Amino acid sequence: MGITRDNPYSTAYDYYGDPSKLAEYRLFVLNECSMDCKGCFYTKNKNDFNNFDGALNLAKDLVSNGYRMETCYLLPTDMFDNTDNYKLFNNKSFKDIIGLFNFVGIATTLEHGYDEKFFDILYDLYPQHTVEIQVNLSIKRLFDINYQGLIRNNITKLKAQYGERVVINLAINIGFKIADEELAVLKDMMMELSEDGIIELNFTFLYNDDISFDNKKKMLKQSMSTLTYFKDQYKSHNSYTQEFNKRSLLTKPSFVFAHDDIYCNPIVPFDEYVYVKDDVFKLEGSTYDDFITCYCNASVINSIIDKTCETCENLEYCMAKYYFAIAKKFDLGCFMNKF
Ligand code: SF4
Repeated sequence: MGITRDNPYSTAYDYYGDPSKLAEYRLFVLNECSMDCKGCFYTKNKNDFNNFDGALNLAKDLVSNGYRMETCYLLPTDMFDNTDNYKLFNNKSFKDIIGLFNFVGIATTLEHGYDEKFFDILYDLYPQHTVEIQVNLSIKRLFDINYQGLIRNNITKLKAQYGERVVINLAINIGFKIADEELAVLKDMMMELSEDGIIELNFTFLYNDDISFDNKKKMLKQSMSTLTYFKDQYKSHNSYTQEFNKRSLLTKPSFVFAHDDIYCNPIVPFDEYVYVKDDVFKLEGSTYDDFITCYCNASVINSIIDKTCETCENLEYCMAKYYFAIAKKFDLGCFMNKF
């Protein structure tokens, strides 16, 4: 189905503008973290991407080609756990990059509250920006008597202090079996506390070079069952009756900046960006042309995975999100299957 204002999916336009003309950045620039969230395989130091001139050049190129820069995520550790992270805002090119976006995305557990200094720095530099806060939920503390109250209180405080200038989303790490009772609590928290009504799924294991490809493959398959669980929850609790909601139309390029490299992420529907450290998703340089070349190269392996895809109503989405490329590399099959 084409994406037009006349079809039932037109809300995507109302909400995001042209969904194919958005872009997001994921800058791996934060270090040190004392939290020990279950299932976190991020490297907590040596997140040393610093080619901010290159990242700025790419962002400017995207803008001049009609893209809107939506969210710049600062990753991978808890923003408030190391105040040295704020020194990034001393770098001119870094500041200019952030200035091109509408949202700054950060992750935090909120278990130790939050630091007003971060918001002071940010809002002082960018009075119009909104901060997307992904609250990383601790699966191992879900049944701790104080845990949910602590998170709820800190979210309430954040909203009272910053109002519409912060958007609260919830996130969990995946790649391992999550028990039914844990999923049920996560679902309840999501419905109560997530402003987008979703839970972000972090594929942290894909970023860890010490995990073998075979183990990544197993963990990604395991992740698909968590993804399927939440996909079914979105269907039942949000106002969209279709299998897909407005987020599912987004095919926005999501660029990962890690060490010296820039990668473009393919997507598992709904909207889960999957980092694949493979040359086919790596940009040769930091220009719009490098991005287009990367997409063209990835298209070669982004062909249907099964005869049934040819007549499937989701074909366009799977193709546009480069899902087939992920499915082939990790031997996943159709994402609609029960995993
Ligand atoms: S992977 Fe599944 S959902 Fe996607 S086009 Fe093929 S059959 Fe349809």
